[in-house]
Amino acid sequence: MKCIYDLDQWRELRQTDYNSGSLGFVPTMGALHKGHLSLVQSSIKDNDFTVVSIFLNPTQFNNPEDYRTYPRTFEADKALLENEGVDVLLNPNYDQLYSDEYKYNILESELSKQLCSSSRPGHFDGVLTVVMKLLNLVQARYAYFGEKDYQQYLLVKGMAQAFFLNTEIVPCPTVREPDGLAYSSRNRRLSPKDRLKAPLFYSLLKSELDPKRIAVELKTAGFKVDYVEEIGHRRYGAVYAGDVRLIDNVIC
Ligand code: AMP
Repeated sequence: MKCIYDLDQWRELRQTDYNSGSLGFVPTMGALHKGHLSLVQSSIKDNDFTVVSIFLNPTQFNNPEDYRTYPRTFEADKALLENEGVDVLLNPNYDQLYSDEYKYNILESELSKQLCSSSRPGHFDGVLTVVMKLLNLVQARYAYFGEKDYQQYLLVKGMAQAFFLNTEIVPCPTVREPDGLAYSSRNRRLSPKDRLKAPLFYSLLKSELDPKRIAVELKTAGFKVDYVEEIGHRRYGAVYAGDVRLIDNVIC
């Protein structure tokens, strides 16, 4: 696996070593788990080459404390990707990716203003902007996104269509722990007590109860509820267990 820190070096290699055959791309923020690895495995299955990026994107963190405490496990991540057979790990730095100092950004005016946006203002502007930069840099045939972050997946897919990007956005199913909790980099910050109760979030979300009732049950169980809401045929939820934010969604 080539580990590339320099974007100019990557752009050169993209034109030489990775110009023939299909290229799959998996953007991540690191602290990799089985959810990320399932995306990587899909890309490896579908493509001749797989590129994974690790970039902890500050512009999508509205809460500096969340950014500061986000798990960073770069060496372990690298070993996991190497083991999966990834071809290239891209690990750019902020100054290279944001040479414009975030003066240019991508704004979406409808879906990005719903669900997660009320407690995370500006979050999706940061997500869409960094994904646009990465998609332009990697020029992949396919890019893989997890359904766990379904609102994000829809926004990225919409952006790719709106801007005629050449990359097809591929959704991948949510990977869960045996007790139902969706894998998330933030799970490792849960206290043992909160980790025990966390699966209740998913089991209530997929229950027959209506969203209001689910919110009440979650509060009773000790979660702080951000939202439980249905849009189309999907039910979305976000809660805090202690200071750790969990999101999930199910078809309804
Ligand atoms: P992140 O590192 O949190 O930005 O996530 C990188 C990608 O992995 C995103 O497309 C996420 O939706 C996806 N992902 C995160 N957790 C899971 C999971 N439990 N199952 C499937 N995909 C996931």
